[in-house]
Amino acid sequence: MKNPIYLICLATMLLALDANSMGASKVLPEDELNVYSARKEHLIKPLLDRFSETTNVKINLVTAKGDALLARLKAEGVNSPADIFLTVDAGRLYRAQQMGVFQPVRSEILQQAIPSHLRSATQEWFGLSIRARVIIYAKDRVTPDQLNTYESLSSSEWKDRICIRSSENIYNQSLVASMLANRGASETEEWLKAFTFNFARQPSGGDRDQIKAVSAGQCDVAIVNSYYLAGMLRSSDAKERDAANQVALHWPNQEDRGTHINISGAGVTKSSKKPKLAARLLEFLATIDSQQWYAEVNNEYPIIPEAEIHEVLQKWGGFKTDQLNVTLLGLHNSDAILAMDRAGWE
Ligand code: FE
Repeated sequence: MKNPIYLICLATMLLALDANSMGASKVLPEDELNVYSARKEHLIKPLLDRFSETTNVKINLVTAKGDALLARLKAEGVNSPADIFLTVDAGRLYRAQQMGVFQPVRSEILQQAIPSHLRSATQEWFGLSIRARVIIYAKDRVTPDQLNTYESLSSSEWKDRICIRSSENIYNQSLVASMLANRGASETEEWLKAFTFNFARQPSGGDRDQIKAVSAGQCDVAIVNSYYLAGMLRSSDAKERDAANQVALHWPNQEDRGTHINISGAGVTKSSKKPKLAARLLEFLATIDSQQWYAEVNNEYPIIPEAEIHEVLQKWGGFKTDQLNVTLLGLHNSDAILAMDRAGWE
């Protein structure tokens, strides 16, 4: 029989080995990441909590409007405590990239999970969800066969019948940028003038307000992001649900390039001292479980086709999306703003 002291030593050695191997895979408990998010706390925090639970990494979340966070990142510069910047619209992500906010992330996982047209070629930002900019119409005044492309809304048939928010809004800038990329400058300018001439009123309010205006009879069609309609259909407020039920969704440009889509997305900041850990959080956000939760709570489409979509979105059916590289929305942003201005889109 072996010496009992030898057995105790062996057991201690094995325990030490085990503790070491655990230490190698687990992150130190004092690890922290600072996330600057343009998405409201309840639309992202539960997901970040899940990451904290599995990794022991504490997440400090700062939420504000996208452009306010960008201004803050610019002011803080290399001393910014932010590790991750999360915001909506490729136009804004590109703007952040131009400002030098991000550092490249070399991640096989992200490259495989996220289609190349929905992330920057420089690996600085990555799409995390998809939204479509769609036409909605009054069910009692418009029939689906009257609707076709974004381009067709410039026809005189739509005079004084269109509601849309201001040209200051990045969603509209990105839509016009997609027209510039797809159709060129002169066709886009022509379209913009006739389209703007058809507005029922001076642009005001957000996308939800355009849906409400259509349901109230102030206009017959509007262009809005898909998740606003889904959010109103799922609303606990009966008035919002009623307004949303007065309208229906049309997928524009199904016979040609597909409906204009945009993303929410994120990247690791240049100032981050923990880029590897920050990249792990991005990879976590790109997993099927995270994608399902994130898309559902935001009424958006997941980046990963395997993730399920909410039943409200399922009812709308599948649609063809414009495969344009979303970086082009950023590249054409300033030209889009100028063209909208020239067309008189306030
Ligand atoms: Fe929005």
